[in-house]
Amino acid sequence: MEKNERIELAELIFPNIKHDREYYEKMYPERNLPEGAMVTRFGPSPTGFVHMGSLLVAFIDAIYAKQSQGKFFLRIEDTDQKRSVENGIEGIFNDLKAFDIIPDESPLAGGEYGPYIQSERNEIYQTYVKDLIVQGYAYPCFMKEEEIASIREEQEINKTKLGIYGHYAVDRDLDLEEVKSRIAAGEEYVIRLKSPGNANNTVELVDCIKGKMKFPEHDMDTVLLKKDGTPTYHFAHAIDDHLMHTTHVIRGDEWVSSVPLHIQLFQILGFKQPEYAHIAPVTKKEEGTIRKLSKRKDPEAKVSYYEEVGLPIEAVKLYLATILNSNFEEWYLNNTDKKIEDFTFTFDKMAIGGTLFDLDKLNNISKTYFSRKSGEEVYEETLKYTEKFDQEYNKLLKDNKEDMIKFLSIEKDGDRPRKDIAKYSDVKEEFSYAIDSLFEKENFSKLDSEKTYDVELVRNYVNTKLNLDVTNDEWFQTVKEYALENGYAASPKDYKKDPEAFKGHVGDLCEAIRVMVTGRTKSPDLFSIMKVLGKDRINERINSFEKSQK
Ligand code: GLU
Repeated sequence: MEKNERIELAELIFPNIKHDREYYEKMYPERNLPEGAMVTRFGPSPTGFVHMGSLLVAFIDAIYAKQSQGKFFLRIEDTDQKRSVENGIEGIFNDLKAFDIIPDESPLAGGEYGPYIQSERNEIYQTYVKDLIVQGYAYPCFMKEEEIASIREEQEINKTKLGIYGHYAVDRDLDLEEVKSRIAAGEEYVIRLKSPGNANNTVELVDCIKGKMKFPEHDMDTVLLKKDGTPTYHFAHAIDDHLMHTTHVIRGDEWVSSVPLHIQLFQILGFKQPEYAHIAPVTKKEEGTIRKLSKRKDPEAKVSYYEEVGLPIEAVKLYLATILNSNFEEWYLNNTDKKIEDFTFTFDKMAIGGTLFDLDKLNNISKTYFSRKSGEEVYEETLKYTEKFDQEYNKLLKDNKEDMIKFLSIEKDGDRPRKDIAKYSDVKEEFSYAIDSLFEKENFSKLDSEKTYDVELVRNYVNTKLNLDVTNDEWFQTVKEYALENGYAASPKDYKKDPEAFKGHVGDLCEAIRVMVTGRTKSPDLFSIMKVLGKDRINERINSFEKSQK
């Protein structure tokens, strides 16, 4: 087709598109940002929720934009209606918000580069396609589904490359008259790229994460606009990321294979290509095999999971940061007073292969997070959690505020603060001795020891020796004395030297006290716990232990 024919064809197909490219180029000028500022974007389909793998991407987007004084925007990619659900956008917002990921521009916040919903941008896409038709880089293709299916079958049998290219692209050189009559006859069509590429040539991409990659040049007549006039992902990506001035396209590495097409689109459209960073999927180890984290099989793939089980969002963010940059965790452990925002994230510390999503690791990081919170902070946050998820315990927490804060504050000072809580829901279990009514209810039922403990020995100790107004060291001194007086060695070492001579050692005595006072063989500092309880409550507990043994 000659140029004038192509102009006629473009008008015939898009009679209602009145603006030209220049109109949009002016409407969306370069962003006025400092040198080196990154413009990132998150482009989910409106499926109603964000998968953890995607959340990781959004998290990175937001961080990079922020630390470079750039912009991060949310663009709803609803070109595939099958993936849209009612209120799907709201769900995305809620999930992002739960992680404090607030885009600078979005369908909700607005912005100068909107609309931020692809289905509202059809006129823009069509304007650019119209121009590509005029340039000879796009054409209407009338091929029927069956035709395409049979080509595919043939290609599969012949083991040739799949797709519409070369002689398979039967409509790429139709003459104007034929196109006009087929359109007039009401035949349906898509608009395809008239690819100028040759697969014998090589194109290169230097990916921010994966480094240099080489591909055969794209030579497929890929669909740009579907029958209903809406764009494919590829075309929308090129147009939107150009007009919205994205500097870094951070996305899942399932898109790597589309890179040659995207490079070609940016070239023929005359756009500057953004940087790409392709992220490996978030995976999970299961019975020795590694697979993608799945929203069907893995509850932790959903953002809502974390709130429900009581993992603090801050802790999950710390974990995401750990996955994101391999040097983050060490930095965080060494910098007790720092926040995620204080760390500089870089692409070169991002994993090239799959990223294992490891809940145990997340729990460990969360324990570190909790260890840095004061007793009062843990109390307040647990109160909030239980308000929603455990109202009965919430009431008990409120009724026992003072004690609870004291218990939660034990072993918080010093270089190695206590690391026993990973989730708000752990508080009830870990501090089961803290609230009398709960303690009575459980009544030593969870005691993880089969041993017998000498009630009289402990009772006598409490009544004759225990002084709660001394230091921890002084206290321990009295325990040792008492141990010796009653036939126990003052240290495990002494005991080992001559086991026959003793009933046990001071550790056994402490264990007996601990078991009767807390119902557990392990607990934070015993003397601190006893101080909060006071003698009366300690005696009550010894009595109920005695009863429970009968
Ligand atoms: N809508 C695309 C997806 O959900 C976005 C990919 C991209 O960020 O470019 O996979």
